Amino acid sequence: MPDMPERSEARRTWDRIGDLLFTHGLEPTVANFDLCRRYVMGDTALVKTFDQAIERHGGLTRTALAGLMAVHSRTVTSDEIMRFAQQARQKAEEAAHVIGETQGDTRRFADVLEAGAVTLATGEGPEAVIAELLAETRLMTERAWAAEDRIRKASDEIQELRTRLAEASVSANSDPLTGLPNRRALEARLRDAFEAARAQRRTFSLAICDIDNFKRINDTHGHPIGDQVIRLIASALSRVGSDSLFVARYGGEEFVVVFDGAEPRDAMAQLDTIRADVAARQVTLRQTGETLGRVTFSAGIAGMRGRRDTSAMLKAADDALYRAKSDGRNRIYAAD
Ligand code: GH3
Ligand code: MG
Ligand code: MG
Repeated sequence: MPDMPERSEARRTWDRIGDLLFTHGLEPTVANFDLCRRYVMGDTALVKTFDQAIERHGGLTRTALAGLMAVHSRTVTSDEIMRFAQQARQKAEEAAHVIGETQGDTRRFADVLEAGAVTLATGEGPEAVIAELLAETRLMTERAWAAEDRIRKASDEIQELRTRLAEASVSANSDPLTGLPNRRALEARLRDAFEAARAQRRTFSLAICDIDNFKRINDTHGHPIGDQVIRLIASALSRVGSDSLFVARYGGEEFVVVFDGAEPRDAMAQLDTIRADVAARQVTLRQTGETLGRVTFSAGIAGMRGRRDTSAMLKAADDALYRAKSDGRNRIYAAD
């Protein structure tokens, strides 16, 4: 039988593998079988660590086996661990840079990984190396979680700051009593309107409105009722059904209305309708039924033409308002 020697060689190998499995009480799994087969076939590095493990543990205990598997598993080589260690170092340093951590911990982690890879390559004390790698990895994972937590918190804080900033910007630009844009917002709006109108060869007008004899309302009915009257006029002015209208509270009981694209004549027509509506009403307080009688306002209007800037427009409108007051109030005058 020409194939007998080969078969008996194979048979001997099988017997030795079986003996090894049996002696060390190993489960006949594919991995265990492969390990024993490579031992029997004389895989030098494996034989060396195999024998060391048997010597140290008095047999192939579970720990010894785990160590052997980790070193001699075909999927992870020490080269790969080394590569992984280098990548881990790079990633950890990038992460440390992002979260502003000191890089000491991450460097130490990578050092342990690299040292571990070297030790594994020489086949010395794999269990201890693996235990150390595991401990370091757990530590790094915990740190990563903590960092993640901090990043999440920081992002929540940023969101909250953004909201507060938006609120602050609203309150910085609006008047709390009427909810209208305040003087600061008005100034910005006027500057924009002036620039835009000049660039597009368009025009715009503005009106300063001032409630008539307002001190008397305050004196007769008290300051809180005065506030309600301010709100009433604010909402009357805001009701002008035009998109190109901007109403701001300019001061105590004074308002500025901006009429985009309008000559003073058009602005006058729009505003006078509101003036007449307001003046026609008897104002009665909802809560008390108390009557305030008629509340009126006067206004001065100025256009852009012939005026250098928005201050000149406001000054001209104020002069016209002064004349309207002098001539008996409840009227609107246009600047010359
Ligand atoms: P005129 O017709 O000439 O405008 O007379 P007036 O009494 O309205 O005079 P003036 O415009 O100078 O008066 C403004 C008053 O408005 C003075 C101030 O006490 C009052 N005032 C200013 N701000 C507020 C406010 O927020 N609430 C209340 N209730 N009163 C205010
Ligand atoms: Mg006033
Ligand atoms: Mg007034």
